[in-house]
Amino acid sequence: MTTGAARVVARLKKLNEASDDEGALTRLTLSPAHARAAAMVRRWMEMAGLAVRIDAVGNVVGRREGATPDAKTLIIGSHIDTVRNAGSFDGNLGVLLGVEACARLTNKPLPYAIEVVAFGDEEGVRFPTSLTGSRALAGTFDPVCLTSVDEKGVSRRDALLAFGCDPSHAQFEARDPARTFGYIEVHIEQGPVLEANKLALGLVTAINGGSRGEIVIEGAAGHAGTLPMNMRKDALAAAAEIVLFIEEIGKKGVELVATVGRIDVPNGAVNVVPGRARLSVDVRSPRDDDRMRALADIRAEIARIAAARGVKADLNITYDMPAAICDKTLSAAFARSFERCDHPLFRLPSGAGHDAMSFRERIPQAMIFVRCRGGVSHRPEEFAAPADIASALAVLEDFLDTIGATQ
Ligand SMILES: [Zn+2]
Repeated sequence: MTTGAARVVARLKKLNEASDDEGALTRLTLSPAHARAAAMVRRWMEMAGLAVRIDAVGNVVGRREGATPDAKTLIIGSHIDTVRNAGSFDGNLGVLLGVEACARLTNKPLPYAIEVVAFGDEEGVRFPTSLTGSRALAGTFDPVCLTSVDEKGVSRRDALLAFGCDPSHAQFEARDPARTFGYIEVHIEQGPVLEANKLALGLVTAINGGSRGEIVIEGAAGHAGTLPMNMRKDALAAAAEIVLFIEEIGKKGVELVATVGRIDVPNGAVNVVPGRARLSVDVRSPRDDDRMRALADIRAEIARIAAARGVKADLNITYDMPAAICDKTLSAAFARSFERCDHPLFRLPSGAGHDAMSFRERIPQAMIFVRCRGGVSHRPEEFAAPADIASALAVLEDFLDTIGATQ
C-alpha cells in the first residue's frame, strides 16, 4: 500500500472519533460530531495546501487555484455526515481521497483550479430534506428547506446558525457552470456487484432515477369461514399477484430494479378475508424511459388484476427523481485512467443516491465506485480493503494528472 493510501486509512479511523453516539458511529448533519469532523477535515485540507472555509450551508470547501486566473474549477466531493450506527467508509472515503490526491499535487502548476468539498447533508437522517450542501453548489438550493425541523423541533436554519454558517447566503454558493470543469466523486459501491466480479473499482454510468409510490387495494372484508371462495373480493390475494408481477418487471428489465418493501393489511386477522391492503412500490433504473415503461406496465397489470378480482386498486406515485447520467468526457478520462493503472474497465449504474446527482443538468459529473465487502453499507461492518483504496487513489491521481489535457 502507498503512503498516501495508508494516510487515508488512518484518517478514516481517526474520523470515527467524531461521533454523536458512544461506541457507534453516528454523525448527523450539523451536529457536534459533524463540527468535530469538519474541523479535522479542515486541518487535513490545509496540510494538503488548500485554502479552506466552511460555506453558508455547512460544507467544508478546500480550494487550490489553477495556474491562470481564468482556469475552470474541478470539484471533488463526497459527504462526512452518516446514518445512525454507520460504517466508516460511506462518503468519508471520497472526501479523504480527494484531500490526499491534492496533497501530492502541492507543487505542480495546474491547468484547472480544484475544490475538495466535504458535504454534510447527504444521508437525510436528521431533517426530512437532504443533499442541501451539493444543491447549494449546483444552484438548486431551495430556501424552504431552512424551515424543516428535526425531531427536537430545531430548524435547519437554527442548526446552521449554531454551526457558524449564514444560511441567508446559501444562494451565493452556486457555482457558475461556465467556470466549472466538472464534479467527480469516489464512493464505496454499497452493493455486491464489484465484489461478485472480483473487481476493485467500477466506473459509474448513471445514478439511477427512482419512483416511489403506494398501491391501495379496496376489496371487501368478510368472514373467513362463511364467505365462499368464488364470492370473495380479497384485497391481500390481489396484492400478492401485484407483488409477484412487480418482481417479474424487475427481473425482465436491464439494470432495472423493482421492489415491494411493505404490505399493510389494516385490521388483518386470521379469520377475516382481507378487505383492504396497502403496498409500497420502488422502481429504479439508470434509464428514465425504462422506468416509465415499467410503471405503465405495473399500472396496466394492476387494472387487469383489479378487474379480474372485482376489487379497486390504484397506484399513486409520491416521489419521482430522474436519473443523473454521468458525463461522457469525464467518464472517458476516468476510463483512460483505469487503463493506465491496469484496472479492467467495468461500468455499472448506481442504485443508491449520491451528492453527484445534485449536479444533474447543471454541471457535468462522474463517479467511480470502490468495492466494499459483502456489499454491506450503512452498518458498522462496512469495509473497503486498503489495497482497493490504494487503487482508487492511483486512478484519481492519474485522472488529475491528465484531465487538463482534455479540457
Ligand atoms: Zn454516501
